[in-house]
Amino acid sequence: MRLRMVCLRVAAGAMALVAASGAAASRGEPPLLLIDSGAARATIVVPQQAGPAEQYAANDLQAVLEKMTGVRLPSVADAAAAEGTRILIGGTRPTDAVVPPLERKDLGEEGYIVRRRGRDLALAGGGPYGTIYAVAELYDRLGARWYLPGELGEVIPRRQRVSFDRLDVRRTPSFAMRWVGTDTAWNLRNRTNRVPDDRLPPAFVVHPGIYHTQTVLIPHREYDRPHPEFFALIDGRRSRAGECKLCNSNPDLPAEIARNMSRMLREVPGIDLISLSPTDGQAWCECPECRKLDEPDVPRDQRYSRRQMVLYNRVAGELEKEFPDQLMLVGAYNVYTCPPKDPELRAHRNLAVVICHYDGYCLAHPVNDPSCEPNRRYLELVRAWQRHTPHVYFYEYYSKMNWVDLPWPIVHTVAADIPFFKSIGIEGLFTQYTLEHIWGNFLVHYVAARLLWDHTLDVPALLDEFYRKFYGAAAAPMKRYHEALETQVARSSVHFPGNAPANAAHVFTEALLGELRTCLNEANRLADDDLVRQRIAKIALSTEYAARFSDYCRLRNAAMELAGKDRQAGLQNALKTIESLRDEVLKDRQRYAGVASGHYFTGRLMMAREIDKLRTLTSGKGATGGKRK
Ligand SMILES: [Zn+2]
Ligand SMILES: [Zn+2]
Repeated sequence: MRLRMVCLRVAAGAMALVAASGAAASRGEPPLLLIDSGAARATIVVPQQAGPAEQYAANDLQAVLEKMTGVRLPSVADAAAAEGTRILIGGTRPTDAVVPPLERKDLGEEGYIVRRRGRDLALAGGGPYGTIYAVAELYDRLGARWYLPGELGEVIPRRQRVSFDRLDVRRTPSFAMRWVGTDTAWNLRNRTNRVPDDRLPPAFVVHPGIYHTQTVLIPHREYDRPHPEFFALIDGRRSRAGECKLCNSNPDLPAEIARNMSRMLREVPGIDLISLSPTDGQAWCECPECRKLDEPDVPRDQRYSRRQMVLYNRVAGELEKEFPDQLMLVGAYNVYTCPPKDPELRAHRNLAVVICHYDGYCLAHPVNDPSCEPNRRYLELVRAWQRHTPHVYFYEYYSKMNWVDLPWPIVHTVAADIPFFKSIGIEGLFTQYTLEHIWGNFLVHYVAARLLWDHTLDVPALLDEFYRKFYGAAAAPMKRYHEALETQVARSSVHFPGNAPANAAHVFTEALLGELRTCLNEANRLADDDLVRQRIAKIALSTEYAARFSDYCRLRNAAMELAGKDRQAGLQNALKTIESLRDEVLKDRQRYAGVASGHYFTGRLMMAREIDKLRTLTSGKGATGGKRK
C-alpha cells in the first residue's frame, strides 16, 4: 500500500505529521486510542438500564483489556455523560448516533455492528448476545484467543497501547445453533450459543434438553403407577425400568406429552425448539399395535423409524392446537436415524429433526467424502430427512466417549463438514463435549466453534495462527505433531466413529508414535516460555496415554491370534498393561487432569467390562479356542 504523509489531529488536540496509510488516514481521522502506556484513554459506557448480557459484555471487556495492558478502563452508566473517547456497549443513548436503531433491527438477535465514529466506538448487537459477540470481535482484532477453557488455553498478547483506526464491521452467524462447549466464558468469546450461566438471558434454547427428553416429558417415576400403559411392553409386561421406551401406539400418550410441553412453553421463556426423543438403549415396546407401526426388511438404522415418526406427528398435531407455530425438535438416532420408507407418511409441518452422527457412520472422514461408505449412507438419510423438513440439526461426536480419552484428531473432518453443512442448509449442531480429555481434542472444538460462527473461515490460516500463538518458538514441530495425527486418521482405510479398543491400534501405530515423540522432543527443546512448556507437557502426557493404550490393544490382538498357553500368557501381559494404565490414571488425577479421567474404567463402563472379559479369558475359562472371530 502506498504510504502518504498526511496531517492528523492527534487525541491531545495538537497537530502532528505522521506516516499513515489506509482509510482512517485518508479521512483525516486519528487512531482511536483506548489505552496508552499504562494509562486509560477511554471510558466503557453501559446503558442506564443495562441487562445482564450488556453488563457481562462490559465486565468481560474490562477484565480482558486489563490482562492485556494492566490498565482497568473506567465503566459508567450512560446517564453519567462520559467525556472523551467512549466504548459504547449495546443500546446506550449515544449508540443511536453511531448505529441507528433501524440498522440494528436487521441484525437478528446475535448479529452485531462494531463501528468507530469520531471518538466513539460502538459495540452494538441486534440483541443481548449480539453485544457480547461484538466484544468478542474486538478480542479477535486484538489478537486474544481462547483455545480451551482455563489459563493454559488462553492467549492474550501483552500490549502497551490499544487503538483502532477505521472500524466498521457487520456480522451475523452462519448457523443458528452453535452448541460447542460447557464453559460460559470460552463459549461466548468463541461466539457459540450454549450458555450454561443461568444469570444470563436465554440464547438458543432447546427445551427440556437436546436428547433423550422422554425422561423429562413422561418421567417414569411419575407415570409408572397411574399409566403403566404409557411404557413399553417387554416380555409380556409393562416395563418397570426407567430407561424403557414409550408405547408409541397408546392413543392417550400424544396428548399427555403435548400437555407437558405446553406447560413448559408457558413457563420457560424463549424456547426455540421444544424437544422429544426417546431414552437411550433398546428397550422397545413389543405390543402388537406398536409392532404394526414398524416396517419390515429395512436397514438397522431404520428399524424403528416409522413408529417414531407416527408418535412425533401425533404429538405435533396435539401441540399445534395451543402453539400453532412452535417447532418441535425430534430425534433421529441409532435404530431410527433414517426416516421411514413409507412414502405416505410425511413429517408434520412443525417438526425439526436432530440427526445423530452416531456409530454406524464415520468420523475419520468428512460426511461428503464419496469414498467413505458409512458416510454415504449417512448423507443419503440426511437428504431423506430434508425432504420431510427444512429444519435439520446435527448431533455430533467431536468428543467421543468410547474413544476412551485418546487424542481425537478429526479437525480435517470438521473443517470439511461445517462449510458443507452450511451449503446444504443445516441450521446448526450440538456436539458432545467434556473437559475430562480436552487436551486430546480441544482443537476440534475450537475449529468447530469458529466455523459455526463463520463457515467461510480459512482453516489452514486459522491453524497456522494457532501453532504460532499457542506454541510460540515451538510452533514448527507442534504443527508437524498435529498434522501427523490428522493425516493418520484422514488417510485411514478403516471407517470408524470412535471405539478405541477396536481402532486405537491402527491409528496410534508405532511409526506414528515415534514421529509424535520426535516432534515433542524438538518442541521441548525450542519452547522458551513456561506456559508453552506446560501445554506441551499436557500434549505429551496425552500421547503417552495413547501409546500405552494402543500397546495394550496390540498385545491383546496378538494374543488372540495364538492358542493355549501362549494365548494365556499374551493375554495376561495385555491385562497387566491396561490395568497399570488404569491404576495410574485413577491414582494420579492431578497430573492427568484434562488428559484422561479413567472414568471409562469404572463401574460397568466399557473398559471395566473389557477388563472383566480379559480376566475371565486369562482365568482359563475362555482361553482354549483358536483364532478370534
Ligand atoms: Zn406399544
Ligand atoms: Zn470413513
